Amino acid sequence: MKVTALGVNSAFAIGKFDQVVETEILEQKLEFAVKKAKDNHSSLTLGEIKKIIRENSKRSYFPKFQSNFLLEFETKGKIKDNTYKLVLDFGSDIRHSLANIGLKMGDIDGFYCSHPHADHIGGIEGIALSTVFNPYWNNKKTEWLQKQKTRRDEDSNKPVELDLVTDRLYKKEKIPSTCKPDIWGHREVLDSLWDAARPGLDTLQGVKNVSLETFFNPIVMSKSMEYQIQEHETTWTFYTVESTHVVGGTSYMPSFGLMFESEKKKIYFPTDTLYIMPPIMKPFYESADIIYHDCETGPKSGVHSHIEEIRKIDSHIKKKCYLYHFTEEPEVEQGEFLGVLKEGEVHNY
Ligand SMILES: [Zn+2]
Repeated sequence: MKVTALGVNSAFAIGKFDQVVETEILEQKLEFAVKKAKDNHSSLTLGEIKKIIRENSKRSYFPKFQSNFLLEFETKGKIKDNTYKLVLDFGSDIRHSLANIGLKMGDIDGFYCSHPHADHIGGIEGIALSTVFNPYWNNKKTEWLQKQKTRRDEDSNKPVELDLVTDRLYKKEKIPSTCKPDIWGHREVLDSLWDAARPGLDTLQGVKNVSLETFFNPIVMSKSMEYQIQEHETTWTFYTVESTHVVGGTSYMPSFGLMFESEKKKIYFPTDTLYIMPPIMKPFYESADIIYHDCETGPKSGVHSHIEEIRKIDSHIKKKCYLYHFTEEPEVEQGEFLGVLKEGEVHNY
């Protein structure tokens, strides 16, 4: 099992960081523009300098990505590269955080949704559209479309057309389950997800009865069920663990973390959560070997575990925790925690 931190930041960790970087980059570009003007022995107009800056502005945006993970399982017989790629939460910047490690949304085999906040589900519309309309999502999908193409067009060397997906949906032919990604989550989480996504996705021209099933293979998870994935000789058993995230006033938000267990390791992703809340959660923290833990910095929201509180917890649990989901990187002592997670960090278990 390979874990990649696509991002390590909270939903709010954007503005300040961008401004700092942009100033530094802008200075470099101005120097470049002035040097270019001198080299040319000509005085450039302001408009010309701006044009040079624009043409050289490709890397002026370095966002802090939302806290989502990529989990990879080398599992023969599954689709694409014999590796099942599962994305744990898919915020509104998922397209860019995947591109940051060289992947496209269509490369992903399964998406797990912990709870319906924008930094966990905001990418759903882009994922659904890009995977459902990608004729090359996997070989089976290309073959499925190629059959129809051959019937209506003898020249089978022509590329598979995007329209063919729509044609088939219009004729009430469902996309086969082998030709679209899985989406994992509890019924109440998936229902909230579809409520959020429906206005954008229930607009396929002429296609009726559009649902989450149109775009994905929903795997409705149950609190009492275990799931398994085989990786070479290792069997990973995983199940959901309910977290306490947003509880208060008139609202309760369903939120479920994931626990992965093998003979070698027990890895716990509580996702967004208050620390050991309620106290009956303690056995999950005690039994895990590795915990990827929510760590809020800055003002206390009351719905995340704040660094000031996490620093007071039992040291044997702290030593199992990778901290993430922060606004600014927390200041901790050497060896206090297992680590402060960095964007792009990879762990193999
Ligand atoms: Zn949240």
